[in-house]
Amino acid sequence: MHVQVDHPCVQHKLAIIRDVETGHKRFRELSTEITQFLCYEALKNVKTREVDVQTPLAVAACRKIDTDIVVVPILRAGVGMLDGILDLLPTARVGFVGLYRDEETKQPVSYYDRFPPQVEGGTCIIIDPMIATGGSTNAAIDLLKNAGAGNIVVICIVTCQEGLDVVEAAHPDVPVYTASIDDSLNENKYIVPGLGDAGDRLFGTSHH
Ligand code: URA
Repeated sequence: MHVQVDHPCVQHKLAIIRDVETGHKRFRELSTEITQFLCYEALKNVKTREVDVQTPLAVAACRKIDTDIVVVPILRAGVGMLDGILDLLPTARVGFVGLYRDEETKQPVSYYDRFPPQVEGGTCIIIDPMIATGGSTNAAIDLLKNAGAGNIVVICIVTCQEGLDVVEAAHPDVPVYTASIDDSLNENKYIVPGLGDAGDRLFGTSHH
């Protein structure tokens, strides 16, 4: 299952973040802003419990989120989406998955993972700006499931049909929320038109 968030506020920000002229400061801000909209959608059906709240006038029947939230950025670019989620969900816990792409095989190689125990029974949100081949996403989902996670969603800024198909084939229980499903992957497995190397653009390590 995947959801493309077509809201004009998201699509407007996506147009700016894609622009080669957008520098790393603005890129980071836009990454935060887009992530918040995507997270808002992704948690639409998160478990809540009823609570009574005393207002200055009366008791109001309210709802509060009733699950531990564990955010899992895939290093390095996923870190650029972390602040946005923590602003929305200040009590969320954070796990990490370190993966790099072997440039020859194009396969993800895991070099680090660390999760809070709340992945078991909680709601896990994997964040990575780009789902290109889907390999890194599947590796992160596998690591989380091995750690006991049963409830996982993925949020990315841009993906493509090829990457979505790979994730959906291996993990049909894991929904993907994205701002865009782009046309294709190039020979270096970059998304086209995409937004370039998200890590470089977030952290100012590109030549632009
Ligand atoms: N990672 C990126 O940063 N960009 C892509 O287009 C694909 C993978």
